[in-house]
Amino acid sequence: MTNRSEPISGEPTIEDWLTTAGTNLRAWEPSPLSELLQTERRDEYQALLTHPDYSLKLLKDCLEKARKKPARPYHIQNIEAPGDCWESGTQIDPARVSVKTPDGKSFTLYVYQLVFILTRALVLDEDDQVRHLCNNRACVRPDHLEVGSAQQNRQDEERRKYAGNSPQGRGQTLHAHVPKHLQLRPDPFVPEPLERERPPRKISPKKPKDK
Ligand SMILES: [Zn+2]
Repeated sequence: MTNRSEPISGEPTIEDWLTTAGTNLRAWEPSPLSELLQTERRDEYQALLTHPDYSLKLLKDCLEKARKKPARPYHIQNIEAPGDCWESGTQIDPARVSVKTPDGKSFTLYVYQLVFILTRALVLDEDDQVRHLCNNRACVRPDHLEVGSAQQNRQDEERRKYAGNSPQGRGQTLHAHVPKHLQLRPDPFVPEPLERERPPRKISPKKPKDK
């Protein structure tokens, strides 16, 4: 993880990220343990990292297709992931990309996974998950992405609900208009209590009334 190039300015551009990815990809070497660790997924990722010209073109296409979504002022996600989100696909169905490397490997992965792998030049393991620091699964902006465990990913999922970003892409609940066919909650809307607000369950039916 040392000496990896990262853009310096606060709001990096696509060009900045392509430069960063180019530097990291060209400096990449397989880990001395890579033969021991080999899995199908690692093979696929390595095929990307060993073809920087092909991969950089793919990365450029993916980043250019993303839509910029301005950060919401005073929103909690600005702490960990400041700036606009770059969205591709939706929260419930993030965009995927089909890969065909020059050495003949074909596979599909999420755009956010591709962006993370190529900008960091990292081969991820089976249990590594690309996390969204901005709680927005549609986001592919490289500095809004981080790698973590499956457990951290589940915590992110909880955090996303508390931040008002449900996986259905409703955004802040207060402002969202959700078409009926996308509503999972009952209609008319019934607020869902947070865990700690639920009334305590009655344990003993014989408990005397305190009137
Ligand atoms: Zn984002």
